[in-house]
Amino acid sequence: MRIVVLAGGIGGARFLLGVRAYAREVGAEVTAVVNVGDDLYLHGLKICPDLDSVLYTLGGGADSQRGWGRADETWTVKTELAAYGAEPTWFGLGDRDIATHLVRTNMINGGYPLSAVTTALATRWQPGVHLLPATDDRLETHAVVDLDGGQRAIHFQEWWVRHRAEVPTHRFVFVGAESAKPAPGVLDALGAADVVLVAPSNPVVSIAPILAVPGLREAVAEAPGRVVGVSPIIGGAPVRGMADRCLAVLDVECSAAGVGRLYGGRRAGGLLDGWLVAPEDEQAAVPEVTVRAVPLWMTDEAATAGMVRAAVELS
Ligand code: GDP
Ligand code: CA
Repeated sequence: MRIVVLAGGIGGARFLLGVRAYAREVGAEVTAVVNVGDDLYLHGLKICPDLDSVLYTLGGGADSQRGWGRADETWTVKTELAAYGAEPTWFGLGDRDIATHLVRTNMINGGYPLSAVTTALATRWQPGVHLLPATDDRLETHAVVDLDGGQRAIHFQEWWVRHRAEVPTHRFVFVGAESAKPAPGVLDALGAADVVLVAPSNPVVSIAPILAVPGLREAVAEAPGRVVGVSPIIGGAPVRGMADRCLAVLDVECSAAGVGRLYGGRRAGGLLDGWLVAPEDEQAAVPEVTVRAVPLWMTDEAATAGMVRAAVELS
């Protein structure tokens, strides 16, 4: 069996732990297509927050308390940069993490595409799944906000980390999406998929930018297997993080039903054949989509593998 997972950062990474466990059990092959909309350059370094969350989590090097970055992290470089007054100071750059960004940036400057760089980084972390960025091209999520007396577009990370999503926000724009191409391997993986799983990632700023790459949404719609999503919302609340703020920008109700309808049924021109929700959301109805309720707390690998099993069975 071939499983393709569309994934963002921490929700995607935790879900992939379960997918990998399930795949080992049944002998399946897993490809993760990961969001790059959060990627940015800081202090000359190319940073890929979602790819790093997935690499570190699957490679056993993530700080699970903090939810991002490396375990046993130290912050000497960040402190030194602050002593120079070097902006921006709002983004956490750990010393161990910086090594990843240095290796990545050197390779990008040397002409390697992000997909090749990701493969190279994966030789160290051995994630146990094929990791692909959605695209090798520049695709950045920006938020259009009211700030400093005018309307401005700011990078998603500035919106999320610096402003804690607390500025009046009109919409999100995926800069560069129109001319982006799916990274090598993405369309082949989708074309061969027995099942496509949409991780319980942020639908607005993790999954939507993946689907914004021309051809990618179509490839999911035409995948030979079925498409099953897992709700990132349990009982009306994002389990962790600020997905509610992102949904509010789109005027989408923060509920399992709201996100399910945002994705839409494949037979109705949307994305999904199946939608996995938590037991407290079992009433959630999405037109043309089979909804099933199972516990969706990704507390450990075994629980998450159980979610994955339910998702695959739903397909
Ligand atoms: P980010 O890129 O690091 O923000 O991570 P993602 O977009 O991949 O995932 C963030 C989403 O994961 C949040 O909006 C949460 O709703 C969701 N999430 C986190 N933990 C859990 C969990 O245990 N169960 C479910 N169903 N969703 C979760
Ligand atoms: Ca992210």
